[in-house]
Amino acid sequence: MSAIDDLPPLRQVIDTHGLSARKSLGQNFLLDLNLTAKIARRAGDLTECDVLEIGPGPGGLTRGLLAEGARRVLAIEKDDRCIPALAEIEAAYPGQLQVINGDALEVDPLAHLTPPIRVAANLPYNVGTELLVRWLTPKEWPPFWQSLTLMFQREVAERITAQPGSKAYGRLAILAQWRANANIVMSLPPGAFSPPPKVHSAVVHLTALEEPRYPADAATLSRVVAAAFNQRRKMLRAALKGQAPDIEDRLLAAGIQPTERAEQVSLEQFCALARVMKET
Ligand code: SAM
Repeated sequence: MSAIDDLPPLRQVIDTHGLSARKSLGQNFLLDLNLTAKIARRAGDLTECDVLEIGPGPGGLTRGLLAEGARRVLAIEKDDRCIPALAEIEAAYPGQLQVINGDALEVDPLAHLTPPIRVAANLPYNVGTELLVRWLTPKEWPPFWQSLTLMFQREVAERITAQPGSKAYGRLAILAQWRANANIVMSLPPGAFSPPPKVHSAVVHLTALEEPRYPADAATLSRVVAAAFNQRRKMLRAALKGQAPDIEDRLLAAGIQPTERAEQVSLEQFCALARVMKET
């Protein structure tokens, strides 16, 4: 019998520790351990890795990660009420689970982790997007993480993985796909959670590339893409007018028609434009 079999069912954990879901903390719990094990498997081979989990709550995904053989799990949880519940999992996996009671937007987890590191989380959506952007924009690349396996609102997952020509295509797609492979690996209906959220959810798996897919300066790419998509209905020669007086020539030099709109421009073309914009 594995350690996980000795732990009580998650509904019981919630009752014992009084973990009534709080909207302010975006608490929609996963209580089906088969499902959390399935999500943990989507994170890849964990046996040689430290896993950073954000927002473990009552510990469903935490149990999945440990049962899938994670070398160590570092879990950061803001809600004090969850800490005693997580201590029961710590006791079942001595030395393999460390819990930090804090805000993931403020705690620096790196001092507690040994590479290779994978990240897995079912987070409130606003915190998830903010952390994703941080994890995708470190000073140095490759980043501290090998992969990110994250639950998002379905609509956000589609924005991360979107291709040119779709409404979902924008800054998040460029940011994610420039230096990572990003795929939706699971879709979940509201009923998979307790309480059920209003919208469908999806798990996105991102793996960090060793090098950016195409060369470009990160700050320039970010600036150009932000300006292009801020006025996504405008032609690029208008949307990017403020970026350079000779913007039409620069667009043409990057292989982009000045009359195109941001939505039609590929990642490769945006990177080419970022390189041309760096030239004086
Ligand atoms: N992982 C659990 C599961 O799948 O059942 C809980 C998921 S629930 C959607 C989100 C969790 O993130 C909650 O436990 C909540 O308390 C926690 N949380 C919310 N904001 C947080 C933050 N800023 N830092 C760390 N944890 C946070």
